[in-house]
Amino acid sequence: MRTERDTWDIVSSVGVTALGVAAARAMETTQPDALVRDEYAALFVAAAGHEGIARFIDDPAHHDSLLMAGTIGLRSKFYDDHFLSAAADGVRQAVILASGLDARAYRLAWPAGTVVFELDQPKVLEFKRRVLTDNDASPAAERREVAIDLRDDWPAALLDAGFDPTAPTAWSAEGLLPYLPGAAQDSLFERIERLSAPGSRVALDALSNYEDLDEMIGFQKEHLKNSPMGDIDLRDLFYTDDRSEPENWFGAHGWSATAATMPDLAARYDRTLPEVPEPYHALYLSSRYVAIAKPLTTPSA
Ligand code: SAM
Repeated sequence: MRTERDTWDIVSSVGVTALGVAAARAMETTQPDALVRDEYAALFVAAAGHEGIARFIDDPAHHDSLLMAGTIGLRSKFYDDHFLSAAADGVRQAVILASGLDARAYRLAWPAGTVVFELDQPKVLEFKRRVLTDNDASPAAERREVAIDLRDDWPAALLDAGFDPTAPTAWSAEGLLPYLPGAAQDSLFERIERLSAPGSRVALDALSNYEDLDEMIGFQKEHLKNSPMGDIDLRDLFYTDDRSEPENWFGAHGWSATAATMPDLAARYDRTLPEVPEPYHALYLSSRYVAIAKPLTTPSA
């Protein structure tokens, strides 16, 4: 269960979810038609020593055992495109909120002069740095870590790390929002809005309703005995209190937003979603991948 000041490392509580996502990316990377190739993901899984998750990627028999397995390529590609299209339009500052084991700073072709800030809990970033250093990885942009809890005053820490609020920014909050209480989510949005120069963009994902998730996890527990997440139950980690719809929140602040479901992403990237039981399908439809942009000029009143 969550508490206000809880912390974690890569093999506990919310930290394990970052490892689970990395495992799914490692699997996607091995597919012949992979939508993303993340060569770092398998290194993280190998170094973490989490038996359930390591077994998951080593044995193809487990590959269908997680919702993410069929969809992580689509999700990763959505976020890759977000950053690459912002970069193509001249944005040179990126902020990856809840970066976990996201290796975009290393694997995307960032234009010269791009600065990528990564924010996550200290022990998660510490683990990530150790693995990347041990494997002599070099970032493809100037990467700056901001080790902090996103319920704390992260804007001050980001500014201290050299963030420029006068320059447009590409932000991402991938797989983050359900881990924040509704009030913390609003505060996250307010802070993003305050730190965003005109022309900034945000990509995030959100769930329309938590009943679908609840049903899916119940189904998974009953039918899938080899879940790589072991004893972790996402229902213990998610906050399910009422919260603003991101599209509405940003829309009310003058940003434009477009949302896509998982089937929309599959159509966009010319992929067929795996046949899944009904509770998964409902979740495909209630997960929204949202692209939000702050106009270059403020509309006159
Ligand atoms: N964005 C990464 C990805 O998609 O690979 C990681 C997603 S993982 C599902 C959730 C991440 O959110 C974890 O890395 C976790 O540490 C981070 N996170 C959740 N709540 C946080 C908080 N209050 N402060 C800092 N990081 C947080």
